Amino acid sequence: MNTSCYCGQRRVAALFSAGHYRIVRCVACGQVRTLTPNKVPRTQEYTQADVAVYIDKEQMFRGLFRDVLEFIRRFRTSGVLLEIGAGVGLLIDEAKKIGFDAYGMEPSIAGVSAAKQYFHVSLIPKTFSKKTWKKRADVIVINHVLEHLPDPVAVLHDCHALISPKGILVIGVPNFGSVLARAKKSRWQSLIPNQHRWHFTKHTLDTLVSMQGFRRIGIRSDNHDRGIHPVWKRPLYAILDTISQWTANGEAILAVYEKTS
Ligand SMILES: [Zn+2]
Repeated sequence: MNTSCYCGQRRVAALFSAGHYRIVRCVACGQVRTLTPNKVPRTQEYTQADVAVYIDKEQMFRGLFRDVLEFIRRFRTSGVLLEIGAGVGLLIDEAKKIGFDAYGMEPSIAGVSAAKQYFHVSLIPKTFSKKTWKKRADVIVINHVLEHLPDPVAVLHDCHALISPKGILVIGVPNFGSVLARAKKSRWQSLIPNQHRWHFTKHTLDTLVSMQGFRRIGIRSDNHDRGIHPVWKRPLYAILDTISQWTANGEAILAVYEKTS
């Protein structure tokens, strides 16, 4: 079994199991994470199978990323935008169209080459740190990436060093504190324990990010599309969607932070 929490504590309280994996809560800071038994494989980077999904559903993903950018534009409308973990580059492509000076860093070869080959987007084929990115950024986007990272503290620390004084940090993560995550536990579709090391709630995300010198200035939340569910289940999900929007506590959260120091 691996590792301590990002706060340094190793002791945990067990929540539930999901296949080979154990979902546990840190006794010190409350952050939930996946414990992976030795020898059980984990997936860190984009694979060819992930790339195929983007190619197949390009327009759907472009729409989702335009929504994310629309939200970002409430806070910043121009400047240098850097996406950490840019995947196949579709958010970057959409950001350029609306006038951002946009760059994406992506460590996986599969992502970088698909971005070029299928979408004509050049990504920087590197893992983000202040050693690999030296420019100031006005907007840094980490969208469904933080929950994968072995050391999210180091990444947020470097973001703080690189964001301009009036810049913003935009983080999208699955929300372990949502009603559906709580109800479905190991069956929740965003748990993905072979990929997700950290399972954030609004509270644990805010705590982690504010420790690096940020304060939250905006949040949006959504539930996943349930259009594929049987008709008789849809009214229930419609009610849950409404509650999620009122409480900003849906299955995915998108939070915007500014620097406090
Ligand atoms: Zn902890």
